[in-house]
Amino acid sequence: QPFLIKPFIDAYKAKTDTKINIVYASKGLAQRLQAEGARSPADVILTVDIARLNVYADKDLLAVVNSETLKKNIPAHLRDPGDRWFAFSKRARVIAISKQAKDASSIKRYEDLANPKWRGRICSRPGSHVYNRALIASMIHAGGVEAAQNWAQGVFDNLARRPQGNDRAQVKAVFEGVCDIAIINNYYFGKLKHSDKPNQRDWAAAVRLIFPNQGDRGTHVNISGGGVAKHSKHKSEAVRFLEFLTSKAAQDLYGAINYEYPVNPAVETPKELRSWGTFNEDQMPIARIAELAPEAQKVIDRVGW
Ligand code: FE
Repeated sequence: QPFLIKPFIDAYKAKTDTKINIVYASKGLAQRLQAEGARSPADVILTVDIARLNVYADKDLLAVVNSETLKKNIPAHLRDPGDRWFAFSKRARVIAISKQAKDASSIKRYEDLANPKWRGRICSRPGSHVYNRALIASMIHAGGVEAAQNWAQGVFDNLARRPQGNDRAQVKAVFEGVCDIAIINNYYFGKLKHSDKPNQRDWAAAVRLIFPNQGDRGTHVNISGGGVAKHSKHKSEAVRFLEFLTSKAAQDLYGAINYEYPVNPAVETPKELRSWGTFNEDQMPIARIAELAPEAQKVIDRVGW
């Protein structure tokens, strides 16, 4: 989306005077790159969610990149073992609870959400959305398919209403008293908290965030990321741009624009994000999430979430 990308382009242009053309696409970009083949004018591909990123690798649309800077600035679990894609920011899938539901403060793990004591108290978007699918994939990695299936069934049985809406709509539902517990990406809390619409600020004010699984594997994170197009005619320029995205200046932008966490361990998490809570993340190889996504989808289909 332009509001996310433009500040990075502007910062890079100011630094390097590089001319950059952008195509924004909500879908069909991989198909387009495939159809263009070697004639494709694309140099860099950027997207969100590991499963979407992996599509480009799967379709052989990404070049292998050998960059010491990228290796140094991005932890190994957040990049492709084959060096084709790289994470540039992290987003945490957190639990938002109503400030009025005192009992919900006892929730410490994703696993707790399947407890029948939360019957009729949870709101969620459809399970098949990439954010929930990735979370379930992380649970398959942690405890196997059967445990993940039992968990998904338990959460589904606890839903206050049919799965619907996006992550923001779940916070709204908590504000409206439809439910007390929601699963959301952390940055939506920031967007609502700092929204120019006063009613959205009220939604955010109604909830508190829990960063799950701090006593064990850590909170599930997903990524935004990218790579160099396989048929790029400006490969070294493209790598230079990706390296820029891991620099302090660009890493700070991810937090400032969209309340996302830096991947570069040398860059401090912005103060605003720290004020919502600090946490340890699940450090499973993010590539594994993409591998397990089809299995996770089967779990979601069986449950009907
Ligand atoms: Fe999102």
